Amino acid sequence: MNGNQADDRVIVFDTTLRDGEQAPGASMNYAQKLTVARALASLGVDVMEVGFPVASPGDFQAVEAIARQIDGPIIAALARCNRPDVDAALKALAPAARRRVHVFLATSPIHREFKLKMTPAEVVRVATGAITYARERCDDVEFSAEDAARTELDFLTEVVERAIEAGANTINIPDTVGYAMPAQFGDIIRHLRKNVRGIEKVVLSVHCHDDLGMAVANSLSALQAGARQVECTVNGIGERAGNCSLEEVVMALRTRQDYFGLRTNIRTQQLSSASRVVSGATGFHVARNKAVVGQNAFAHESGIHQHGMITHALTYEVMKPEDVGFKSTNLVLGKHSGRHALTARLRDLGYQLEPQQIDRVFDELKKLADKKKEIYDGDLDALLVGLFQNGTARRWELASLNAVSGTGTLPSAAVSLLSRDGRKLDEAATGDGPVDAVFKCIERITGVKVRLRDFTIASVTAGEDAQGEVVVVVEHEGRTYRGRGLNTDIVMASAEAYLEVINRIAAGRLQRKTPPEPEVVCGAV
Ligand SMILES: [Zn+2]
Repeated sequence: MNGNQADDRVIVFDTTLRDGEQAPGASMNYAQKLTVARALASLGVDVMEVGFPVASPGDFQAVEAIARQIDGPIIAALARCNRPDVDAALKALAPAARRRVHVFLATSPIHREFKLKMTPAEVVRVATGAITYARERCDDVEFSAEDAARTELDFLTEVVERAIEAGANTINIPDTVGYAMPAQFGDIIRHLRKNVRGIEKVVLSVHCHDDLGMAVANSLSALQAGARQVECTVNGIGERAGNCSLEEVVMALRTRQDYFGLRTNIRTQQLSSASRVVSGATGFHVARNKAVVGQNAFAHESGIHQHGMITHALTYEVMKPEDVGFKSTNLVLGKHSGRHALTARLRDLGYQLEPQQIDRVFDELKKLADKKKEIYDGDLDALLVGLFQNGTARRWELASLNAVSGTGTLPSAAVSLLSRDGRKLDEAATGDGPVDAVFKCIERITGVKVRLRDFTIASVTAGEDAQGEVVVVVEHEGRTYRGRGLNTDIVMASAEAYLEVINRIAAGRLQRKTPPEPEVVCGAV
């Protein structure tokens, strides 16, 4: 796809599993990453960046598993400009049919001086050395000039030219700190296209952060100026204020095709499903008023709007809800729906499951249908995110739970947990509320002490019998852990979420040999 700057095709490079996952508290386990990777492949992203293999053994394993199991998109992994990083990326990517090594080095004066302590000449030497090394071992190499938006234009021009000479096929221009403004960012791209020798041989890419709310606008401006790859994440998750949102940039290009004259290969009908999968896996709920995928994105309350809507939908809507996968009725299944209906619905939503996995989903749905009259797409997505967690060793299981609360009663709970060695342990406690009492019981039984940082409840779908999704974020020995529980009973969902956190901490204690080196994970594009 090199040299296609004149082409109207935009390459969608998704980095939900790398940059998105770097958002504080968004870390996903192995099974969750695979679920998200499948959703992304089904969505039709061209490239998916799935990790930073040298950062931790967990990252390495996840990249390798995705490289082995996911077909279709190019699988990319991040590396700093040194041989051990590039070697780790190549090794993790080895099973992929199509793979890309993504190397990065900061180019801005502030990063050169305070972080890298390198002169401009050294930056060029280190970057080109790593690109050459990677290119000798992989046909597809991307180079990112970290903090490009705050780099002197002349120096950026030089770095990009030298990176192309060294063999990079894609050149990424990140606004790492979310500082650029749309017109200015577009001018940077125009400047590079005009002044860099050999620029026509590569794909120019952009990677924008949302610190000033400009990530999508800056990305669109860059595409208009000739960039042909956009780096983005589902729901716009990412470090600090996040990254360019995939669904927004894709729907802007599609809805305003008349203006941009550009197209992507994204199956937009799967955007809302992908959004739910990512929010389920990360525990980051999507704001109701979020463009494109928020629950209210297509809801109309005002009488005037409703009248207009009934007369002609386009009076107040620039997109059709079904274009992004919202159905006027997204009812999937009731108590009496069969396996056939479920299989068809899963396929529509973009899930490719093995027959035995469909059996498991079907069993779980039947259990859910006993508690809940109607089952929606949202229920299905939420269930799938939590279901395939094989291989996650669970130290504790919930055996039983009773909680009492009410006016004039001291909230209390009694909890029984089953330990992996078969012991059953009981505790009772009082608390500020039933959930607090349950947490105290679990803490006493397991002996794991944590500090609760965040606790959120959201309903997965509409209706009085909707499932509640509880996300808890806790701190334990300087690390952050997140757990998720899903149940029509929110006290049960809270207990499940809390127990997931405790199990993760227990599993981490067994696995961890040496603490990860902090320098490795800090700083990225
Ligand atoms: Zn980034």
